[in-house]
Amino acid sequence: MDGNKDSTLKSILSCNCPKCHHGKMFEKGRISKPSSLFSMNKRCENCHQSFEPEPGFYFGAMFISYAFNTALFITVWILLKTFYPDYSLTMLLITISLAAILALPMIFRLSRSIWIAIFIPFKKESDPSRDQSAA
Ligand SMILES: [Zn+2]
Repeated sequence: MDGNKDSTLKSILSCNCPKCHHGKMFEKGRISKPSSLFSMNKRCENCHQSFEPEPGFYFGAMFISYAFNTALFITVWILLKTFYPDYSLTMLLITISLAAILALPMIFRLSRSIWIAIFIPFKKESDPSRDQSAA
């Protein structure tokens, strides 16, 4: 039971399949090809769970992304205020924009990973590392 909780969090953070915790949700991204940072696999290579159960499924992930971005903006603002108290509005906007652009792929992947984990529960039998003979 505790191992399950641990691996659910680990699976969310590593953007693995919510059902079996093994297959990768996203293709390996490359900085040289920015669109690859946002490409998702259609289904899990291990348990064949679809990563887009219905059209528009990830609409709700936008709210999670919004929360992450708000936290990012507040963090950047506090850091700027602490280390460079004489900042201008232009400097604040540029710093926030830069931080948002750099964090975009990570926030995109993490919010989708959290969103799908809310709706698709972990199934022990789809995890190949578990002992199948016990069932
Ligand atoms: Zn899977």
